[in-house]
Amino acid sequence: MQLTEELEALRASVRDFAREVVAPVIAGHYEQHTFPYEIVRQMGKMGLFGLPFPEEYGGMGGDYLALGVALEELARVDSSVAITLEAAVSLGAMPIYRYGTAEQKQRWLPALVSGEALAGFGLTEPGFGSDAGGTQTRAVLDGDEWVINGSKAFITNSGTDITSLVTVTALTGPDEISAIVVPSGTPGFEVGPGYSKVGWCASDTHPLHLDDVRVPAANLLGQRGRGFAQFLHTLDEGRIAIAALATGLAQGCVDESVAYAKERRAFGRAIGDFQAISFKLADMRTRAHTARLAWHDAAARLVAGQDFKQYAAMAKLHASEIAVTNAREATQIHGGYGFMNEYPVARFWRDAKVLEIGEGTSEIQRMVIARDMGL
Ligand SMILES: Cc1cc2nc3c(=O)[nH]c(=O)nc-3n(C[C@H](O)[C@H](O)[C@H](O)COP(=O)(O)OP(=O)(O)OC[C@H]3O[C@@H](n4cnc5c(N)ncnc54)[C@H](O)[C@@H]3O)c2cc1C
Repeated sequence: MQLTEELEALRASVRDFAREVVAPVIAGHYEQHTFPYEIVRQMGKMGLFGLPFPEEYGGMGGDYLALGVALEELARVDSSVAITLEAAVSLGAMPIYRYGTAEQKQRWLPALVSGEALAGFGLTEPGFGSDAGGTQTRAVLDGDEWVINGSKAFITNSGTDITSLVTVTALTGPDEISAIVVPSGTPGFEVGPGYSKVGWCASDTHPLHLDDVRVPAANLLGQRGRGFAQFLHTLDEGRIAIAALATGLAQGCVDESVAYAKERRAFGRAIGDFQAISFKLADMRTRAHTARLAWHDAAARLVAGQDFKQYAAMAKLHASEIAVTNAREATQIHGGYGFMNEYPVARFWRDAKVLEIGEGTSEIQRMVIARDMGL
């Protein structure tokens, strides 16, 4: 798909930013498990957090194609930064934009859209992930306040110094799931210590505990009892963003491996001269290209207001699986150096696996696609 001049300009500016600003410092954050506040601040200034939001909230007036282009270019260099943006926009701010009242939008969106604040989306619980309808967290109305009790697991962007809120899903009645905004710092809202993760080590992920957390009744997001439908739509859109991110990682593996294959010598020649290596690279590039076509197609359908759910699932399934394959091959091409953390491909390898898990596992994507065929 041919991107517009505007999107190509966005791609070029994010690519420069990723190479010049992210690449030199991200390995240090990754190693130390520190959150890259300075990078996030600069991404905010570039307008990346506002890409798919209208100008009235300070956004750039773009859409999911624009967000995907930015995510792809960031993930080509680093996935921790990319997932921070993806979760902040698709999971944090988008539900407020889609389902919030005028007052909620005015209160929360400007800071989220500018990147000055981050929001999380608390759906997964310690006992339930894929089976998200099994939510155990409960919210009970007491006068004009919700009283919330429960736990959430693996919540991205929930514990940074600039996190302003987490939207949590909770049972508000038998078989009735609703979404409620919980501002950071609300008494009883405890953010547990950050997880020690295999990958995405410079991103922010915490368990959350809600112990008699009281928020105003007006913090209900969208209609009471519509929380399940809302988060399914949120995840459908988010899968396009994850597919773009996975494509970026797969392309980053190509970039690093082609450069390495031209430099590294064995048996008197560059290893790229061996057909065993050049064919791997040809396959890696082909995989990244087809993943890009798949997410572009899903995003174009979403933007055009067409049915996109199954195309988003196919794009996410394909892109995440080829990202894992490309990361494995990139490590192989780098030989022993590919196993050293100082090489970007080691980070790619560690970061790729979770793409087959987060925002719906590969098994869940296959279920969505199979259901669409009447199975
Ligand atoms: C780093 C990270 C960040 C995350 N960020 C967030 C976040 O911001 N917000 C949030 O809400 N969640 C977040 N998650 C949670 C993530 O979405 C879940 O981990 C994911 O949906 C899978 O749920 P689970 O871990 O409970 O696995 P389970 O649902 O327990 O699945 C275990 C295995 O069983 C398989 N399985 C389950 N049901 C079926 C079935 N019906 N048929 C076939 N196979 C099945 C799964 O595919 C998987 O292979 C994050 C996770 C990670 C690792």
